[in-house]
Amino acid sequence: MKSKGPLGRCRGILEHRRNIGISQSEFERRVLEALREPLETGHIRVARAARRAEFPARFQLVAAMNPCPCGFLGETRCRCTPEQVARYRGKLSGPLLDRIDLMVEVPAVSESELSTRSDGERSAVVQQRVITARERQLARQQKANALLTPDEIDLHCLPDCAGAALLKQAMARLDLSARGYHRILKVARTIADLAGEEIIRGPHIAEAVQYRRGLS
Ligand SMILES: [Zn+2]
Repeated sequence: MKSKGPLGRCRGILEHRRNIGISQSEFERRVLEALREPLETGHIRVARAARRAEFPARFQLVAAMNPCPCGFLGETRCRCTPEQVARYRGKLSGPLLDRIDLMVEVPAVSESELSTRSDGERSAVVQQRVITARERQLARQQKANALLTPDEIDLHCLPDCAGAALLKQAMARLDLSARGYHRILKVARTIADLAGEEIIRGPHIAEAVQYRRGLS
């Protein structure tokens, strides 16, 4: 059955406790904007005529977008005008981007890179590190870092002096919101947990900040 309107369309993809993946180009701005509330609260409210209902919608969002409408920004074959690029990127509002913790630019991979074997870390090793980091979080605070409230962040995500100074600088330089501040601390907490460290230090804060630089 087809649902109408942005919330109806979103309801189809907001499966509670799931990972959801979207491509920015598939959705209109108002649909993407409807993700803001559940990303923040873990719930979505749907109002229809005189009825209102609230559904749990705690999910992990994985979103992908091209750098410009054709996808080849910076290459000679890209014919997109600056206005077209701005309009394309304008589909993502500042408040929506503010709710995305990790932004990673993925450059195109050349054919020769594709055909040579990578000597990167094996997925099984990374998986074990993630499991250990999660167990560390549950032992410390009985919940994952992503679910910490602001009060709990103050309790469990205090950086050392160097980390605090770095975060203060980043707040001023990147003009971060209070939401951004708390989200950086949660990401830095996770980076420290992955490294098996109890204290959040400068390098953990620096790494968390660089995931939040926004769209370049
Ligand atoms: Zn282009």
